[in-house]
Amino acid sequence: MRQPLIMGNWKMNGSREEGVQLAKALADGLNAGSQEVAVCVPFVYVSDIRGALASSPIALGAQNVADQASGAYTGEISAAMLADCGVKYALVGHSERRSYYGDTSQSVANRFCQAQKQNVIPVLCVGETLEEREQDRTFQVVDEQLDAVIDAAGIEAFANAVIAYEPVWAIGTGKTASDEQAQEVHQYIRKRIADRNPAIAEKVQILYGGSVKPDNAKGLFAMPDIDGGLVGGASLDAKGFLQICHSV
Ligand code: PGA
Repeated sequence: MRQPLIMGNWKMNGSREEGVQLAKALADGLNAGSQEVAVCVPFVYVSDIRGALASSPIALGAQNVADQASGAYTGEISAAMLADCGVKYALVGHSERRSYYGDTSQSVANRFCQAQKQNVIPVLCVGETLEEREQDRTFQVVDEQLDAVIDAAGIEAFANAVIAYEPVWAIGTGKTASDEQAQEVHQYIRKRIADRNPAIAEKVQILYGGSVKPDNAKGLFAMPDIDGGLVGGASLDAKGFLQICHSV
């Protein structure tokens, strides 16, 4: 029922030329399929990458969005600006933002709402650290991160949003959650949404992120509550990322 979604997160990598070449290689190599593919690129390259993807179905994403609409917020990029540049998706609450740049659950909720106001689809990232998992706090952490947004935006907002479960201990570490470990949390998240609105829970795409690679994508994507992936490191290589895109 749910359309698979594979999203690359380039993070702070590459030059303008490398980004354009990568986007062109993806546009050329992507086989038509049931899945949607998107790339979350550095803000400054959004327009160049948009040009490179012009005749392709690959969607554009940003890696963050401001928690305010406009005004005196030096250095920030608003949802309206993203929409203006043809951006369809914006990550909010990526663990690197939460841990290195102080994005709180409240600011993440605000970013989520700002994106939606401009018809940019927020991709809400949630996930526990290794320490939290070892303390059996995975569900509690995911609940807190989800509830902050549900409380601010309302459950109906998830009719037009994506969730990404990204265990922090699996991001960039080469340690992927097992198919079953990931499925367990995805199912939990869907249930948490279903408790409030079953129809929205059935519809919302929940992506897995954390060391998704060409050789583990198929197994993860085959799990019933995993609707695709948010891919960091492996999205910087066109061949590998295309292989992941073709694994659904
Ligand atoms: P990774 O990153 O695939 O390099 O682990 C995923 C992410 O941070 O979105």
